[in-house]
Amino acid sequence: MSPPDQPPFDPEAVPTEAIVSRGGRDLRLTWANGEAAVLPSETLRLRCRCAWCTRDRIQGRFPESFPAV
Ligand SMILES: [Zn+2]
Repeated sequence: MSPPDQPPFDPEAVPTEAIVSRGGRDLRLTWANGEAAVLPSETLRLRCRCAWCTRDRIQGRFPESFPAV
């Protein structure tokens, strides 16, 4: 268990930079240690667990694809 003055997540895991690129089709993340990742926007949207996306899945209205964010 972490001390009470620590956040409930690993601060090192938080990206230092997040850039939407390729006209909204990618999210480019960079971390303080120099690591980087490019995540397709469509992958992020299709895996979204927010209340709106969850409701749309339950109601059968969730889109099958997202060309960009
Ligand atoms: Zn969502």
